Amino acid sequence: MPLSLPPQSSRQTSGRYLGSMPELPELEALRIRLGPRLEGRLITAATVNPKKAHMLRYPVEHFANELPARRIVSLSRRGKHLVFATELGGGGSERWLVINPMLGGRFQIADGDVPVPATEVFTIRIEGRQELRYLDFRDMGRIYWATDLAREIPGWSELGPEADSVAAMGIDVFRKRLRRFRDELKDLLRNQEFLAGIGNAYSDEVLFEARLLPLRRRASLKPSEEEALFLAIPVVLTRAVEAILANPNYEESKQDRSFMAVHMKGGKTCPRCGHRISQLGSNREPLNFCRGCQL
Ligand SMILES: [Zn+2]
Repeated sequence: MPLSLPPQSSRQTSGRYLGSMPELPELEALRIRLGPRLEGRLITAATVNPKKAHMLRYPVEHFANELPARRIVSLSRRGKHLVFATELGGGGSERWLVINPMLGGRFQIADGDVPVPATEVFTIRIEGRQELRYLDFRDMGRIYWATDLAREIPGWSELGPEADSVAAMGIDVFRKRLRRFRDELKDLLRNQEFLAGIGNAYSDEVLFEARLLPLRRRASLKPSEEEALFLAIPVVLTRAVEAILANPNYEESKQDRSFMAVHMKGGKTCPRCGHRISQLGSNREPLNFCRGCQL
């Protein structure tokens, strides 16, 4: 059985596909699952699906020629990107395969004899009989084969600290950082220069947890509300990673975010106060919150 790891959520509503972008928790869960199966392994071959070759931001022949005989040193995450660090089999010459799966990217680790899906973009054969396949049914994923991440990946050098490093940075550093921004809270949390890894879904959840309305301006926050935000971020992110890893259906292509409190729950009942959950914006990219218990 192939291990298929959807890094994103997808919904079927009125027959129309609605997808949402993977954010820190989805990619972190993916990293936790994929990492031990890849780290330290030697790449023995790489192939690119000619029909999807346009998705590589790098000459295809080079990609297929340069990956083999390299070792995957580590799998990490930066913001909404998965980062495969590689070096030559004998060491040295570091180079990174960086992927932001966007709406339709998927990773599959499978035995070489498992048929390759039509959505395959590239396949990396790992020593032994395993293959790591990157699949994309929306052709939106961003794939970089880079020697200098800051130069070659747009926005990389502007990324703020990881959103899951907030607890470690402490309230004082967090407060100082927070006060440099003027955005409304919803935009602030999605701003990758403030913190990397949070997007439309988890910003709703963090603000619900902190009991703050999304359109509040940052400057309107009292010190106690800044602290509520500081505390809410790690709570929401940790809980989400745990929920995703605990989901036995995670391997299915329809990953769900049913563990969420307000995001995508417009019109439903608030789990905290019983008020009706509000929705602004489109069904595609909703902004959900509760007027009953968020101030
Ligand atoms: Zn409520």
